[in-house]
Amino acid sequence: MASVELRGVRKSFGDFEALHGVSLRVDDGEFVVFVGPSGCGKSTLLRLIAGLDEVSDGEISIGEDIVNDMPPVERGVAMVFQSYALYPHMTVFENMAFGLTLAGTPRDQIEARVGHAAGILELSGLLGRKPRELSGGQRQRVAIGRAIVREPRVFLFDEPLSNLDAKLRVQTRIEVAKLHGSLGSTMIYVTHDQVEAMTLADRIVVLNAGSVEQVGRPMDLYRSPVNLFVAGFLGSPQMNLLVGEPDSGNGSSRLRLSGDSAIALPAEAGIAAPRDGRLTLGIRPEHLTVGVEDDVVLQGRVMLTEQLGDHSLVHAVLPHGEPIVAKAEIECGAEAGENIVLGASFANCHVFGEDGQVLATRT
Ligand code: ATP
Repeated sequence: MASVELRGVRKSFGDFEALHGVSLRVDDGEFVVFVGPSGCGKSTLLRLIAGLDEVSDGEISIGEDIVNDMPPVERGVAMVFQSYALYPHMTVFENMAFGLTLAGTPRDQIEARVGHAAGILELSGLLGRKPRELSGGQRQRVAIGRAIVREPRVFLFDEPLSNLDAKLRVQTRIEVAKLHGSLGSTMIYVTHDQVEAMTLADRIVVLNAGSVEQVGRPMDLYRSPVNLFVAGFLGSPQMNLLVGEPDSGNGSSRLRLSGDSAIALPAEAGIAAPRDGRLTLGIRPEHLTVGVEDDVVLQGRVMLTEQLGDHSLVHAVLPHGEPIVAKAEIECGAEAGENIVLGASFANCHVFGEDGQVLATRT
């Protein structure tokens, strides 16, 4: 096990800079998830740590070693890919043992390590099978097993669950969490699935266009996004973002939405002084209450209510056409075409400035 540290890491492909100077420390034994939209640089960052690509600038350390010039095999990392990358002509045992066999590990040690990993992953009964005789979830467990037997200092996972169907993804996600609990190893995991990020991570790194937007514990990012990007990226359905102008003429802070409607804002919003530029008020769907006036009161008209078993999603529009979504109880009674009131507490509101950075957020 080891920590991983990135200092000012840049990566260019020709003229295109994919990573713009990433600095980050992953502690020994920590589970860190890189999350972000397609093309933001998650896999590139993982490949640089693995040594599969070279950094253009900056430094990467694993434990005490600066590994920039160290070949992948000496870095003590094991990577699990989305595509499993198993050898089709080898059995499960042979696939898991492959790296150890190449390294000349004695047979009894190979058997012990493969047996141990197979036990953890519930593969003991499948060791004689070929990959084609396995389900997708079992194949991915073999790929994870192949990483475990190498006893790496750091596990790197590149979207390992993306090829699995929804049910298997949930099961395998739980297995990965248990694996981290039992091995206590340093794990870095790439995904674009925010549920995987929220449930697996000790800390999440949100990447956007080659830069880190925010790093923090999952609930800290959910509660206190530092900017509009993070606010919109984490949470499903995503946070409602209402754009307006500050209106602090009469001493109180107000957010004037399009048209005449205005929302009084809490003093903590920090916009009492006149301020140029637009403001954005963020309220998560789960923090809006249908039919109850609160600190913030919005009048809307219901367009559609989706019933999802344990809750409803009420899709409405505000007087000037801004869409808004509220998460409500199944029996909330919001019918399409009806007028509704949506309330929210200041404590659950986020206010972002013209530059997209947060001015005030829930405490
Ligand atoms: P996804 O979720 O779609 O896998 P990602 O966040 O993992 O995306 P990367 O694969 O790291 O994104 O790619 C980051 C950027 O670098 C993208 O714009 C991609 O097109 C570019 N890129 C990656 N590899 C290369 C390469 N070998 N040559 C040129 N450009 C590349």
